[in-house]
Parts: sequence; C-alpha cells; structure tokens
Amino acid sequence: MPKKLIQKIAFASNMSNYLSRTLILITVATTLLIGGVLIIQQTHYFNKISEQKSRDYIENQKISVREIVKNELEYIRIQNKNFKTKIEEKIRQNVTQAYYTAESIYQKYAGKKSEEEIKALIIASISSLKFEMGYEEVFISTLNGTGVYYPGKPEFTGKNMLHFKDANGSPVIKDEINLLKVDEEGFLKYNINSNLNSETSPHRKIAFVKKFGHFNWYFGSKQYVDDYFPKFRDEVAQKISSVRFKYGGYVFMNNENGTPIVMNGTVYKGNLNLISDTGDIRHKVFMQELEVAKNNPDGGFFYYLWNKMNDTIPSEKCSFVQPFEEYNWLVGAGFYLDEINKSIKDQQKMLREDQKSSIISVLLILIALLLLEGIIIYHFNKKYKSDFDRFFNFFFSSQNSFQQLTISELYFDDFKRAGDAANKMIIHREETETKLVKEHEKATESDRLKSAFLANMSHEIRTPMNSIIGFSELLEDDGLSEQDKILFIKLIRQNSETLLHLINDIVDISKIEANLLSIRKRPLLLSHFLSEISTHYTEILASKKDKDIQFQIINEIKPEVSILTDEIRLKQILDNLIGNAIKFSSSGSVTVAVTMDKKTVHFSIKDTGLGIPYEQQAVIFERFIQAELGHKKNFGGTGLGLAISRNLIHLLGGDIRVESEPGKGSTFYFDILNN
Ligand code: ADP
Repeated sequence: MPKKLIQKIAFASNMSNYLSRTLILITVATTLLIGGVLIIQQTHYFNKISEQKSRDYIENQKISVREIVKNELEYIRIQNKNFKTKIEEKIRQNVTQAYYTAESIYQKYAGKKSEEEIKALIIASISSLKFEMGYEEVFISTLNGTGVYYPGKPEFTGKNMLHFKDANGSPVIKDEINLLKVDEEGFLKYNINSNLNSETSPHRKIAFVKKFGHFNWYFGSKQYVDDYFPKFRDEVAQKISSVRFKYGGYVFMNNENGTPIVMNGTVYKGNLNLISDTGDIRHKVFMQELEVAKNNPDGGFFYYLWNKMNDTIPSEKCSFVQPFEEYNWLVGAGFYLDEINKSIKDQQKMLREDQKSSIISVLLILIALLLLEGIIIYHFNKKYKSDFDRFFNFFFSSQNSFQQLTISELYFDDFKRAGDAANKMIIHREETETKLVKEHEKATESDRLKSAFLANMSHEIRTPMNSIIGFSELLEDDGLSEQDKILFIKLIRQNSETLLHLINDIVDISKIEANLLSIRKRPLLLSHFLSEISTHYTEILASKKDKDIQFQIINEIKPEVSILTDEIRLKQILDNLIGNAIKFSSSGSVTVAVTMDKKTVHFSIKDTGLGIPYEQQAVIFERFIQAELGHKKNFGGTGLGLAISRNLIHLLGGDIRVESEPGKGSTFYFDILNN
C-alpha cells in the first residue's frame, strides 16, 4: 500500500475522524494481537503437550511391549517345564513297567529255575515291550557298570560301560551307578552327539534309572528331548503368533541361528535365514536384534525400520527383545513410533479446528467491537458536531452581535467550559464596546461642548471687552459730566471683574485637567466668613433692579468656631453656587444653610428659581455642561462653575449633589471636611 494512503487513513486532519480512526486501529490491532497471542500460546501448549504425549507414549509402549515379551517368555518357560515333565513321566513309566515285569518273572521262577534262566526270561520279556520310540526301550546294566541288555546294541552286553562319556565328557554310566548308590531311582541329564535332525547340537538326553534289587541290576530308559521338541516349538510358535496388542502389535520369535519362527504375526514356514541371506532387508534388523539380545540377557530395546502388516512402506519401530537361552530363541515385540504421530495428527486436526473456531470467535468479537465502536463514534460525532456547530455559529455571529452560547445545549463538559469562557469573553467585549461607545459619545459630546464653550466663551469675553473698550472711548470725550465718568469707570471695573472671573475659571479648569489644582488650608472663623458673604450678596441683590430675591444665611454655627479649610476656595464654591441660584431665579429667595457635626461642615444653597430638568441633574457637574432649561433666555456663563466647584469640594474632602424640581427651584448640598 502506498505510504501516502496509509498516512491518509491513519492521520486524519479532522479531529473526530482522527479519533474514530485511531480507536478503530487500536481495536483492530489489540484484538488481532490478543487473538494472535492466544493462538500462538495454544499452538505452543499443544506442541509441548504433544512432545510430552509422544514421550509418554514411547515410555508406555516400551513398558507395554516389554511386559508382553516377559509374559510370553514366562509362558514359554511354563510350557517348557510341562514339556520336560511329560518326557520324564514317559521314561519313568517305561522303566517302571519293565521293573514290574521283571519282578513278576523273578517272583514266579525264583528257586524253580536257575538264575541264568530267569535272567534270560526277564531280558526276553523286556525286549518284547513296545514303546513309542526305539530308543525309549529299557536297558539293563549291572551296578558294577557291565552292560546286560542294551536294545539294538548287543555289543554292549558284558561290556564294561564305566568309560562311556557324553558330549560334555561326563561318565554317563558312572553317574547312573552313583545316583543309585544313594537313591532307589532317579533322573539324569546328559548330552549325546547324534545325527538326529534337531535345532541344537549336541542333543540333550534324559534318562531314568531304577535299582532292580536282584542280580545287582538296574533298569534304565532314556529319551532325546529334541525328538519331542519340534512339536513343542510349533505349539509355542502357534500360541505366540496369535498374540496381538494395540496398533496391530504382535510378538516375533527367531532362532539365534537366523531361522525365523514367528514373523509378522504368523508361524514362519519358509527357508529364509536371516544371518546367511544378507541380501534380505530383514538381515540388518536381525543382526541388530541378535546383538541386543546377546548383550542383554534380560532383554533390551532397539530401533529400526519395518514394514507394518499389510503395508509396503517401512515405518520406524522400537522393539524389545529377550533371549530364551535354553533354546537360543529370541522373543520380541515392538511398536511403531508413527502410531503416536497418527494420534497427535488427529489431535492436531482437532486443534486446527479449535483454532479455526478461535479465529472466527476473535473475528466475531472484532466485528462486535467495531459495531459497538461505530455506534459510539456515530453518537460521539453527532454530539461533537452539534457542539462544534454551535461554537462555529457562535463565533460566526459574534462578529456583529453579543449573542451568548446556551451552555445547557452543549453536550461535552469541555465544550461547556470553553463555552463559559467564550461567554465571558463576549460579556467582557460587550462591556468594553459599550464603554467605548459611551466614551466615544462622551468624546463627541465633549467635542461639541468644547465648540459650544468656545463659541460661548468668545461671546462671554467679547461682551465685557466691548463694554470696557466702549466705555473707555466714551471716557475720552471731554464733554462728559462727572457723574457719567463715575458710572463709566464703574462699568469698566465691573466688566473687567467679570472678565477676570472668567479667566480665573479657565485657569482653574485647566489646572483641574492637568491635576495641578491645590488647596491651602488655614483656620477660618466660619461665622465671620458667612456674615461677610451675607453682606456681599445682600448688597448685590439690592443693586439688581430686575431681581426680587430675598437672600439669607441660616447659620447654626457658633461665632467662635473656627474650621481648617481653604477660605479662598470655599468662597469660590459658595460664589458659584449662590451666583447660579441668583442667576437662575428672578424672584423668591436664595437661602444658604450651614450646619456642622464632628468633622464635617454641611452647606445647602436653596433657590426658588427655574429648577433643573431631572435628566440633566446628573450631568450639570460635568465641565462645559449647561442645562437646557427650556426657555429662550440666555443666562450667559461657561458651564465651568459646577465642575470647578465639585473638584474643589473633592479636594476639601467632601462631595456635592443637587435636588431640584423644574419650575420650583433647586437645592445644592455639599459638605467639606474640617481637618
Ligand atoms: P454656568 O456658567 O452656565 O452657570 P455652571 O457650571 O455654574 O455654569 O452651571 C451649569 C448649568 O447648571 C447652568 O448653565 C444651569 O443650566 C444649571 N444650573 C446651575 N445652578 C442652577 C440653579 N441654581 N438653578 C437652575 N439651574 C442651575
């Protein structure tokens, strides 16, 4: 897959896509990883178990085949014993029969016939006895070792047999006589070289001898064990060939000389010789078997390749072989190693089925998880998109409105928190913008007021200046009466004072704006100060013909009370307020009231004039503001008086306010600190 495509799938620039893809990738990876690990573990466990099983199987099979071989050997041992007992019984019977025959003859003729006649009768009757095999016939010998009667061997008669030895060099007759010196009868075993066709050489022979008690004789009979051996061997082979055990197992039996006895579960009838037929594939196996048997009389295991019954392909086989030494037989049994593989293969098949169903389960779990995730992601995306859209719309609309986000409509806490912050930002912006608008309005208004102020100012300056200039010119006229001169000079002085007052106000407001206005407090006898003001305004009002105003000061302060304040500034404040009260009243009264408590002196200046419209009461203390009093009369003035007064009052530690009812009059209250 091209790198770009992987990047495109794995790394989405969109947050919800990024989350979804990451989640899906993690789920798929985790599930596959867990599933993979489980399957690997299962396989590993299976392999471990298989190995263990294989080991156990081999061990068990080894025990089992060993047990089987041992059982068969035990069977051979028992059969062999029976076989020998049977032969012994046979010759014992022969001898016993001869003995009683001889005894009855002896009893019958003793004393009646000569010893030689009796001997001849006995020999005749014994030689006439018929037995299964010729050599079973009963022989007679003396206890001195002289041959009396040996069937088929007349040359032995009268011969000293003591020198006669068997193949091993044992003196056979001597042994017989020695046995009879101790017992009345008994068995003897010896080996005789013989031409008889048998599996072993020399041939084993068994003899039974019995003392006769007369003539110093003893009877004996002998038997070649090997004569009965083929029958016995065939019986054993037949039985062993019938043995079968698990997985087509059978017992095999070979002769050490290379002749197979039981091969592939059947009695072998052919002429094969596993030693001499070196070309036969079984030759090598036999040699191996022979070596193991020779080196381990108690048996041993060996491994080789062998064709199974009805099978042409050789399989690995492990066999146990043990010799039955008496007959040089090798008895063994084995098992095929691939039998366990077959069982393991079956289990492997089952495991594979299990793994298949495990994989299907893992895939089903994966699909279920992905479905679940799909649902979760769908809902998440829906809510996330809804929250995001709300934010998007909010930011979009917030450019030109102060619309806030409805927090309760948001789903995610993170968005809620962000929403809170955004709302706070909007509130803050709204406040700032409102403030800015107000400030802008204020600035515009201030601009307008300044222009009005300047226009007004030029008028306020020009009026007294015109008077000063006009009356000064008139004074130059020589024909003026003394009275007119005095009047003109008075008018010039009045207008100059007005002008000075105006200039002072401008200087003060400039100082206020530059924060340079300062006060100098000194002790002031308040009552005295007030009585001077009272005198001053009473005089002024008396001179004003257009005003019908009563002026009074209600002073509750004792005459000796002195306060610490700036007298000039306090006078300036009172002049402004009383001046306004007179200016905006044509009749009625102007009353100044003064009270005092511990640290504060309270003033009120009440008039019965025009009053101030309610909406303007708050702004008249701003500089340049002149209330719209709803009439056409121009009262003059600059709109600076109240602004200057308020600032001075603040500097003297107090504040000012107004109560007014349009048409009825106004009362200005202010106080100053006495310290
Ligand atoms: P001005 O020089 O115009 O008197 P002020 O600052 O002293 O300036 O007063 C501002 C305005 O407040 C006046 O123009 C007037 O409209 C109003 N005003 C002040 N005092 C009174 C009052 N006692 N009665 C009515 N209006 C008043």
